[in-house]
Amino acid sequence: MTAIATHEELNVYESAEARFEIAAKQLGLEEGLYRFLKYPNKEITVYIPVVMDDGHIEVFIGYRVQHSLVRGPCKGGIRYSPNVSIDEVRALASWMTWKCAVVDIPFGGAKGGIICDPEKLSRAEIERLTRRYTAELSEWLGPEKDVPAPDLGTDPQVMAWVMDTYSMHLRHTVTGVVTGKPIDIGGSRGRREATGRGMLITCNKALERFHLKPSDCRVIVQGFGNVGSIAAQLMHETGYKIIGASDIHGGLYNEKGIDIPKLIDWVYGQHKPLPDFPGGGERASSQDILFRSCDVLVPAAVENQITSQNAHQVDCKILCEGANGPTTAYADAILQEKGVFVLPDILANAGGVTVSYFEWVQDRQGFFWRENEVNNRLKDVMEHSFDEVVQVRETHKVNNRTAAYMLAIRRVASALRLRGIYA
Ligand code: GLU
Repeated sequence: MTAIATHEELNVYESAEARFEIAAKQLGLEEGLYRFLKYPNKEITVYIPVVMDDGHIEVFIGYRVQHSLVRGPCKGGIRYSPNVSIDEVRALASWMTWKCAVVDIPFGGAKGGIICDPEKLSRAEIERLTRRYTAELSEWLGPEKDVPAPDLGTDPQVMAWVMDTYSMHLRHTVTGVVTGKPIDIGGSRGRREATGRGMLITCNKALERFHLKPSDCRVIVQGFGNVGSIAAQLMHETGYKIIGASDIHGGLYNEKGIDIPKLIDWVYGQHKPLPDFPGGGERASSQDILFRSCDVLVPAAVENQITSQNAHQVDCKILCEGANGPTTAYADAILQEKGVFVLPDILANAGGVTVSYFEWVQDRQGFFWRENEVNNRLKDVMEHSFDEVVQVRETHKVNNRTAAYMLAIRRVASALRLRGIYA
């Protein structure tokens, strides 16, 4: 392993493969199954024409990668970002397969993305882009086939357009084609908060192992989008002290703790840049915030934040990965050597897809649960999954990430052995 973050290190697909390989080897996975699970099932590229507000036609590139349908319909978000690439979507699709298997929900994995900058598009342009993307993919989507959800740059309104477009093509309303929808059209109570809530639940479990109380814990959260801001809010309510936070504009650090409800109002109520928060503390860059001393570090922004070049600077007991792939495979060994207790993305942020599963179940039943019921079931799934990962860790003397992959690969491989290869 090299000490320099190379192109190879920063390619998320290579990172995903490296983790899969380590866990597959540790499991002694048969060669044939290894080959089967290493590659996606299907990769779809669509060129999406959109009439822009000024009347000219733009063409956007969109992807949907279906990694696995061995355990059930494909499941995974759609991201709108200028940095989307086929390698990224492919990596994210495979992570969804492992994530769904870690929490033992009956889905395979998929991911979609469109190369675009949603900040530079009007809502009307985003709507046309979404509808045409959905129309192009309609034969591959469906409650029994592939069920998208929100991810970076997309939100419940975008999911509403996906649901409506798909339903118009089928000539009847199909709420279960997509999750993360607004509650009024078949969304689930608690879905918006689910990823952050799942992170809180896994952190609470990790704290028990360290005999720590939330009030003993200083937390730094990188990223203040849906995942980071809600995790910070729920942790703050539980008594954790949030001493650092950042968004795309930069970060803030305050040893005494940041008033998170006020910060949320500043960023979301008043639409102001996070670092300008009055009396918030000392300014720091979004990268620097990762290396301040804390008990729980929560990278909840984008991929490749903790690499072989900077992992030695990380100064925390618990690393709770809110983003997908915030740590590179090369950094894993350094964190292990430092004794950091890592809550890997495919476990820590699985609360989102878990409540997506609940939403899909509710849509299919046409029977909707109270928020308490959603949250209690989520707690049960997350706590149980945490215990199962730790059990594999202890039995096989591996780190948490490898343990989570082993648990997931074992489940998918078992389903594959039972189903066999159709010829
Ligand atoms: N985009 C989220 C994730 O990466 C949610 C996926 C889903 O709910 O299907 O886990």
